[in-house]
Amino acid sequence: MTTLTDTAPALFWFRRDLRIADNTGLEAALARHGAVLPVFIFDSHILDDLSDRRDRRITFIHDSVRELRAKLRAHGSGLIVLHGDPLLRLPELAEAVDAAAIYTNRDYEPYAKLRDDAIARMFAERGRGFYSFKDQVIFEQRDIEKANGEPYRVFTPYKKTWLRRFEETELTGDAPDTPREADLSRLAPSASMKGYSDAWTMADLGFEARELWLEPGEDAAQQRLAHFLPRISRYGEDRDFPAREGTSGLSVHLRFGTISIRECVRAARRETSSGASTWLSELIWREFYMMILDRFPFVVSHAFQQQYDDIAWPGKDEHFDAWCEGRTGYPLVDAAMRHFNATGWMHNRLRMITAMFLTKDLLIDWRRGEAWFAEGLLDFELASNNGGWQWSASTGVDAAPYFRIFNPILQSRKFDPDGSYIRTWVPELRGFDNTHIHWPAAADTHTQREAACIVGEDYPLPIVDHHEQKDKAIALFSGA
Ligand SMILES: Cc1cc2nc3c(=O)[nH]c(=O)nc-3n(C[C@H](O)[C@H](O)[C@H](O)COP(=O)(O)OP(=O)(O)OC[C@H]3O[C@@H](n4cnc5c(N)ncnc54)[C@H](O)[C@@H]3O)c2cc1C
Repeated sequence: MTTLTDTAPALFWFRRDLRIADNTGLEAALARHGAVLPVFIFDSHILDDLSDRRDRRITFIHDSVRELRAKLRAHGSGLIVLHGDPLLRLPELAEAVDAAAIYTNRDYEPYAKLRDDAIARMFAERGRGFYSFKDQVIFEQRDIEKANGEPYRVFTPYKKTWLRRFEETELTGDAPDTPREADLSRLAPSASMKGYSDAWTMADLGFEARELWLEPGEDAAQQRLAHFLPRISRYGEDRDFPAREGTSGLSVHLRFGTISIRECVRAARRETSSGASTWLSELIWREFYMMILDRFPFVVSHAFQQQYDDIAWPGKDEHFDAWCEGRTGYPLVDAAMRHFNATGWMHNRLRMITAMFLTKDLLIDWRRGEAWFAEGLLDFELASNNGGWQWSASTGVDAAPYFRIFNPILQSRKFDPDGSYIRTWVPELRGFDNTHIHWPAAADTHTQREAACIVGEDYPLPIVDHHEQKDKAIALFSGA
């Protein structure tokens, strides 16, 4: 590892940390090298795998990278933007600028781990350093484990250890409220980066720009956090109601690193309300699932509880299509799926309800739903999506027990009591009153006519009977 300042330049490779503030790897590179050239690569392996040329995530990344470049330019520097295979493009760039090393922040997803190992080897063969840093989590890999070195499989003891260990970090106590800013005077001047970037408009990348439901970029993430903090004390009461602005909406920013997890955790700890500690728990769930993915990578395609891996899910293809398109005849499920298809966003309570509905009411393999979410979610995070799906399907680590199955109609009455969320996303049901909107199939003909919605014509009849399906789901699991 380079210790004293190295006069040779280094590369800093931005990936899922699209910010300048409180960026561990960037700070380390700037502390050790006389000149740091920032680089971002639109990785063709990832882009080529996306089936939808209108994928919203590319707009979010593209616009965040543009903002990042503007910030770096404001410091007299810039950003080299490449489009291609990092295994080819990074060694080429390192050669061209004679970089002594490359710095980056760690990524724990299986593809990223393989890619980074390969790049580290290539750099080592050419006598260049590869240094990676913990940045997207407070605790990674084996930081939190049982006394016997085993990974935790239950969230509550994991969280207890997490909180205890957190008290031992430098992030508590007198840590400054504002995040650290690195010494940006060591960024390489813009002239030294001229001519290295590829063309990278959305069209150059082969994608179409989309309207997003939230603003991309580091500044927007700061505004979102600032907007949420005055409401954090109410988080416990409001977080389960999709029609309320009860949650932070920061998942996309955490996913792409336009905000630092340390800043979020410090903000939560400064507040003393129970809402703030519930919110902190959710941030810890995020790390729990990342740890599970890192320690048990088989969960990507297999049930964590292996006895449920070979369940022969009897669900029908046409039911899967109805679920995807929001025409199951269960209003809250349909509202959630239509909202998701229109924006790439789904509220946490609705992710649980729709995932449980797919697996326990439609008896369809959780992997199909997981893949549908993975394609469409703007905040798609392999670890949390897999964890959330396996939780809802009862196949995962510390999952919902298979016999505790949400009743989608009761969930609707409880968490959308005045039907306002349903009315927004399933407009044909707007005419029903608050009693019938959750289950219009039970409304008599007169009520349906008054609501200007005939179930079976204007809105689908329920595609399954919840009570029958619940019994079948329990039988499926108890026989496994
Ligand atoms: C089936 C299913 C799939 C999911 N897929 C994803 C996904 O792909 N990406 C993703 O970020 N989250 C996923 N979640 C978790 C959760 O739904 C979202 O993180 C949350 O809805 C994001 O909204 P928010 O930022 O307003 O969250 P807040 O309620 O404000 O929570 C703050 C942050 O904590 C983290 N968090 C919250 N809840 C969870 C959770 N249950 N598990 C892990 N982390 C959590 C997120 O980073 C979130 O931004 C999934 C949950 C389920 C049940």
